Amino acid sequence: MTYQKYTGMSREALLEKVQSVMSEKRFNHVLGVEKAAINLAELYKCDKERAGLAGLIHDYAKELPDQDFLDLIDKYQLDPELKKWGNNVWHGLVGIYKIQEDLGITDPEILRSIEIHTVGANEMTLLDKIVYVADYIEHNRNFPLVQEARVIAQQNLDKAVAFETVHTVEHLAHQALPIFPQTIETYNAFYKYLKED
Ligand code: GDP
Ligand code: FE
Ligand code: FE
Repeated sequence: MTYQKYTGMSREALLEKVQSVMSEKRFNHVLGVEKAAINLAELYKCDKERAGLAGLIHDYAKELPDQDFLDLIDKYQLDPELKKWGNNVWHGLVGIYKIQEDLGITDPEILRSIEIHTVGANEMTLLDKIVYVADYIEHNRNFPLVQEARVIAQQNLDKAVAFETVHTVEHLAHQALPIFPQTIETYNAFYKYLKED
């Protein structure tokens, strides 16, 4: 994986840039997502360059200050309703503008998969599903359901999207946190796959 085609940068330069904007823990997470996304791309016959690169940069904007996201929402005339949300929702949906500015990524499929990596969408491409699931199951993740999610991810990708979405919605509701409408749309589009073998 060189990613040169999509970034115009060497892998070394890209890694250095990504590492410079995040904590060591998060850098290890994105390396884990890169690896998990490449593995899923191999299994489900998706483009490994796109999957690996999207995995590596999906949380590029996660440590950006709130004010920078609010400024990007104005600058790119995004839906002002977005301003009511926070980092968890912004770092994907708004983060792609920072990624375009800083890393010069223009590939629409890569950008889309990063845009929706937290909230999903009612229609997701193979790449979108791979990035969404890889983020949840990468090897540094350690929560009670992760082993089950990893097994499902090897067997049925739609079921893995459903599993992750159902548990995210459950987790947010259990903590009385707001749920972004697009997350609910993802839930409604995918929950039925949880009943598949
Ligand atoms: P991370 O960036 O690798 O930590 O993972 P994600 O981008 O998938 O999720 C970031 C955070 O956003 C997690 O704590 C999720 O529980 C949370 N999250 C996911 N969906 C929603 C949503 O619809 N609303 C809110 N408020 N938070 C969400
Ligand atoms: Fe994220
Ligand atoms: Fe992540």
